[in-house]
Amino acid sequence: MKEEIKAYNNVLELIGNTPLIKLNNITQGLSGNFYAKVEAFNPGHSTKDRIALYIIEEAEKRGILKPGDTIIETTSGNTGFSLAMVSIIKGYDCILAVSSKSSADKIDMLRTMGAKVYVCPANVSADDERSYYNVAKRLHEETKGSVYINQYFNDLNVDAHYNSTGPEIWEQTNGKITHLVACSGTGGTISGTARFLKEQNPDIQILGVDAFGSVLKKYHETKEFDNEEIYPYRIEGLGKNLIPTATDFDIIDNFMKVSDEDSAHTARELAKKEGLFVGYTSGAAFQAIKQYEEAGTFNENSNVVVIFPDHGSRYMSKIYSDDWMSEQGFFDTKNKEEAQKIEIIK
Ligand code: PMP
Repeated sequence: MKEEIKAYNNVLELIGNTPLIKLNNITQGLSGNFYAKVEAFNPGHSTKDRIALYIIEEAEKRGILKPGDTIIETTSGNTGFSLAMVSIIKGYDCILAVSSKSSADKIDMLRTMGAKVYVCPANVSADDERSYYNVAKRLHEETKGSVYINQYFNDLNVDAHYNSTGPEIWEQTNGKITHLVACSGTGGTISGTARFLKEQNPDIQILGVDAFGSVLKKYHETKEFDNEEIYPYRIEGLGKNLIPTATDFDIIDNFMKVSDEDSAHTARELAKKEGLFVGYTSGAAFQAIKQYEEAGTFNENSNVVVIFPDHGSRYMSKIYSDDWMSEQGFFDTKNKEEAQKIEIIK
């Protein structure tokens, strides 16, 4: 009898079911057991593959999307890449409005994945007609058969994680998870995963990670939107200067703010101590664990799951560049010895 060929039908079949990996070395001195849900194992190297596939397939089921239609979103980051990837396989056009702050590398990545990219001025207000929000809105209105993903205000972003990330973590930990640590940007990851986990066991603690310069933590604690909290920071994908409806603030027990500098060093530490080459917000998430530990959040019976959202390769010109780290002054105060000398043999 002829052997079956063991192949996936296309790259989309590899989305989700990412591994849970025990952290063994960076955790020295911390209380409890720590496990990372490593989302870089998705084919598009980030957790955003899940929402791209889920939202597009929901739109198909509801008859909103038909072959040859157009997907529109405002992002230069992981969501854009994942949407472009799903669009290729499913035969949609993909239009992404990005800010002129986006690096040339990122724009090239999106174009390589077949997306049409509109680069919009970064230094205009959100209500300016040239802002990437308004350019996306205009393109959506002008393009027949288009769907605007709008991840910050789309419940399907949350549902994607409720239906995949949450059940996977519950099953992988055999229901023994006590704490979830996750970054919040749109809030889709933390809200959807938490909703599923709390339905199984309401005692599971949901610990959010926010950036200094973002409004989320203060809003969570006071329900006040405080403009004073907003200032520029370098971590991409974490924190926000608006309140996304995709964030379920009531399901999050606590937020911890982390700094650009600490998060960058912790990301580099994850590579050196665990062999995990993950992105800037993964460093931020583990940095938050260190701070939660200091606050006495864990004990020896804790089983903590932390979500690492994406892969380190997207940050080569940032946290994994010693030049960039030096320019930010991140080698000035601590970890001076960390900048490794390169030996050049002549
Ligand atoms: N990390 C990275 C690198 C991201 O791109 C995002 C998405 N903005 C997040 C974390 C946060 O995920 P979410 O939007 O689901 O809150």
